[in-house]
Amino acid sequence: MNSEDCIFCKIVAGTIPSSKVYEDDVCLAFNDLNPQAPTHVLVVPKEHFDSLDTAVGEQKQTLGHLMLTAAEIARQEGFAEAGYRVVINTNADGGQTVFHLHVHLLGGRPFVFPPG
Ligand code: AMP
Ligand code: ZN
Repeated sequence: MNSEDCIFCKIVAGTIPSSKVYEDDVCLAFNDLNPQAPTHVLVVPKEHFDSLDTAVGEQKQTLGHLMLTAAEIARQEGFAEAGYRVVINTNADGGQTVFHLHVHLLGGRPFVFPPG
């Protein structure tokens, strides 16, 4: 996908509003519009890349940054010890609908495995 047509690039640029949870040089975290848990935050890289499937070595540090940011938000939200779920839906069978890689952080309730 062209990053000019990408909804998450527009959120990063501030041309589409979001409910921001956290921001730094590498990523932005905001509340999901259609939450699947009491806390459902999306952590997105500021740099556009389509999916985990297209990520390459250059994105290694960014991917680690997204994971550690999700873990930090979980601690701040107060459910880290109880537990939470981190998900990267990838391509069609993975349920990915927005092709700007993002980490879902879900917490505040128990989850089952495997997911649907
Ligand atoms: P995925 O299906 O893994 O690609 O996840 C895309 C997520 O983005 C879904 O959970 C949507 O609810 C969420 N979403 C789509 N548009 C927005 C938006 N404008 N603001 C916040 N979340 C959004
Ligand atoms: Zn994008």
